[in-house]
Amino acid sequence: MLLFTTIFLSFVAASVIVRLWLSQRQINHIQHHYAQVPAAFADKISLEDHHRAADYSCTKLRVGRFMLAWETLWLLLWTLGGGINLLDHLWYGYEYSALLTGIGVIFSLSLISSILNLPFSLYQTFVIEERFGFNQTTVKTWLLDLVKTTALIVVIGVPLLATMLWLMNQAGDNWWLYAWLLWMSFSLIMIWAYPAFIAPMFNKFNQLEDSSLQARIEQLLQRCGFQSQGVFVVDGSRRSSHGNAYFTGFGKNKRIVFYDTLLESLSADEVEAVLAHELGHFKRNHIKKSLLLSSAISFLGFALLAWLMRSDWFYSSLGVEIASTHAALLLFMMIMPVFTYFVSPLFSALSRKHEFEADEFAHSNSDYRALISALVNLYRDNASTLTPDPIHSMFYDSHPPASIRINRLESIASGGSPN
Ligand SMILES: [Zn+2]
Repeated sequence: MLLFTTIFLSFVAASVIVRLWLSQRQINHIQHHYAQVPAAFADKISLEDHHRAADYSCTKLRVGRFMLAWETLWLLLWTLGGGINLLDHLWYGYEYSALLTGIGVIFSLSLISSILNLPFSLYQTFVIEERFGFNQTTVKTWLLDLVKTTALIVVIGVPLLATMLWLMNQAGDNWWLYAWLLWMSFSLIMIWAYPAFIAPMFNKFNQLEDSSLQARIEQLLQRCGFQSQGVFVVDGSRRSSHGNAYFTGFGKNKRIVFYDTLLESLSADEVEAVLAHELGHFKRNHIKKSLLLSSAISFLGFALLAWLMRSDWFYSSLGVEIASTHAALLLFMMIMPVFTYFVSPLFSALSRKHEFEADEFAHSNSDYRALISALVNLYRDNASTLTPDPIHSMFYDSHPPASIRINRLESIASGGSPN
């Protein structure tokens, strides 16, 4: 067996073992705290809600294991199992240009993969979310979403892929620099265009109109120097009763979005506090920082891809007979997650750091007690567990566990150091 085949298989095995181990830790930890609501939440969360959150979390973790097995099986079938090779031979048979063959292979593989994952998407929405009372999606909406997403991939994804493959084929040794510039421009355009043009294809966005809130919100926005198209409410309830709030976009298109479902369960004070938290993300430049980081990572990624593309062993050790730009791109996109999985805790940690910063900002600019009660509402209504396993959380969580966020908010209030 080739050296890189052994390395690849070892990383696949290691990542599967770590994922299963973390999943089991999380289930055990949640079950261990099943009987009682954690003391800090005893007067805010009922035992029934606590049980619902535990059952919901564990069900998702168990389904996650099947998905992991399914995805790993297909990763191996496409690569070492000869799946890409088979598609290659099929498309080479038509004797199209290298560019068209490449688009054909990548597009047909993506299509087959999406079809293979559809049963999980259906099961998640219409069985799990339904069982726990979250699902509001009709089959019609679900199908329409599928059609719209596919159309977007064809209209936006295929030209991007074609340009990328063209650069890889034609732009000489420095193709990866141009490809990186293309990728960064694309990312910037998407961050700018997503809130204004793409998200509205799936949901309705309305200006937040509530006279009692309006004045307070305007004041807060002004105090924080936030110039934007304002605060929006999205009809998330069309698909699910999960609630959230987020900050998105930049330039004139930046906006803060509240789910209608969240807004329903929050008081005016709580809305103001959540808004202050989202403004914290803006004031601390979190979108710009993430963009800088991802531009550095994609720069390294393209350099690595350029090197791998020139290396014959890269193809042969992953079950591909004919070296080509499209096979290099495809293999790279498929196998990289196996390796980057092990550095994902660093990105989760950065995200949690940003959440703490946004909380600190909210603390200085609104009532921290309202933020705490909004958080408790959010955890209860979304059936998020209050008792995550610390190692599982360290690996995956983009937000610090509720108890830690609340403790921190309280300790800042009592004059303690935020660190
Ligand atoms: Zn946040």
